[in-house]
Amino acid sequence: MVADIAEKPAKRYPAAGMYSVLYDGQCEICQACVSWLRTIDHENNTTCLPIGDQVLSSMDSRLTMDECLRQLHVVTPGGEIRVGWDAITCLARLFPSTRLISALGQRFPFRNAGKLLYGFIAKNRYSLSKCRGGACRAAKPDKVRQQAKLGAFWSCYTLGFFIRLPLVLWSAIKAAEQRMSIFVRTYHKRFDLLNGRLVILFLNGMLPNAVPVLFGELFTAIIYDGIAIDPGSPKMRRSLARHLQQGNLKITKVVATHAHEEHVGNLNWLSEVTGTPLYASEMTAQFLTPFKKLPWVRATIIGQPPNLKPPYLLLGETVDTESGYLQVIPTPGHCDDHIVLYDPKEKLLLAGDAFMGSYFATPNPDVDSRKWLASLELLMELDIEILVEGHGHIHTLRADIPDFPGVVIREDPKVAISEKVNYLRWLREQIEAGFQEDLPVRVIEASCFPWGRRTSWETCATDECIRLLSLGHFSRTELVRSFVRKDADQLPTVYEVRMSGGE
Ligand SMILES: [Zn+2]
Repeated sequence: MVADIAEKPAKRYPAAGMYSVLYDGQCEICQACVSWLRTIDHENNTTCLPIGDQVLSSMDSRLTMDECLRQLHVVTPGGEIRVGWDAITCLARLFPSTRLISALGQRFPFRNAGKLLYGFIAKNRYSLSKCRGGACRAAKPDKVRQQAKLGAFWSCYTLGFFIRLPLVLWSAIKAAEQRMSIFVRTYHKRFDLLNGRLVILFLNGMLPNAVPVLFGELFTAIIYDGIAIDPGSPKMRRSLARHLQQGNLKITKVVATHAHEEHVGNLNWLSEVTGTPLYASEMTAQFLTPFKKLPWVRATIIGQPPNLKPPYLLLGETVDTESGYLQVIPTPGHCDDHIVLYDPKEKLLLAGDAFMGSYFATPNPDVDSRKWLASLELLMELDIEILVEGHGHIHTLRADIPDFPGVVIREDPKVAISEKVNYLRWLREQIEAGFQEDLPVRVIEASCFPWGRRTSWETCATDECIRLLSLGHFSRTELVRSFVRKDADQLPTVYEVRMSGGE
């Protein structure tokens, strides 16, 4: 039980002069504590190592997998091994903000209370972490899985949440600040790039403004080499008209990437006022005639688009631009009718909503993540130097695109896409495993957002806010569902599901 397992010093340590903290990389509680430790350890006194056969054997022969999984182990720079509550007080001594915990924690009655509390958490943690794969492969998964109860899972997950809560709130404030700054800098702005061949028009509207302010999604119309793409919703029409009045915009065609309300509300209108032909894919045109009735939250904030009226043309495999052509590539996933436009000469991809950042956890109900993954794998085969998202963000390393913090993201587009591909593959694995083990959907959802992933707590407040304000329409739950959609499934909405009373 007590601190030192043995007296004799061990052979070698990977990090000289540092405290090595061995934690269970699969455990919510351990991960939460490690992220706190990293936050307060400004001077890099500690190094946190997830338990694994290799780590243990390279560090000290006295460390065993079973013991390390049971309790926290810390190896001091002097080669001593501290275990459990004593390991915690040993770490607490290192930092001014926690020194009091260390001083009290070594004395009666706090030491006894601390050990009791630590024992309780460690015991439940063990059953939790083992039920979710990973480190348990090294231990005895069957035995452990039997012990694992959902109650233990939820108590650990909830505890993990409360341990993170200050971090969640802090990052929510930071994110809100950043969103506000981007909103102000893009308000009614126009962004001319590549000698005017690429123009981003930022669209605003009284109620639509709530979206960029609360969630950071910007509304745009993109004009590339004469082609106006996705010109916004009816509630942004005045903003679009203002941009047109300012002149100096050459529009020769209007094209829709997919039938979502914030992209298609002004198709006929723009085509009429500019006297140019309108193009949509066959499926998009079908979705727009008539356009399904939106749930009231979306209709109120974004606006119900009018039905598509003829004349319009169906998109083929390419569409001609002023100086060349764009390839039209079907990319189902974000929704079934999605297409992207690709300029092979400029190596530029107009991605619409087929790419919405590498990490995106609150999809719409018509997302099919398996199809999305296949579409992204297809896009990985293209040579892309500039990636323009439908909501205004641009990923590029090219020097002829000037800096615009928060809008231009200095990152190789292929790296950004491959990160998303990896993330979706990981989710697929996690969700498939969950269903195979017959876990309830809520548990699978939670297991897709382990507190050990920075993005889980960083975007927690925003994601839950989106869930709340969209009445569950866009949510982390939809992310799980998006992996189990069958082709035969009608585009479901939360409302339909609620009315039929099913899961
Ligand atoms: Zn969309």
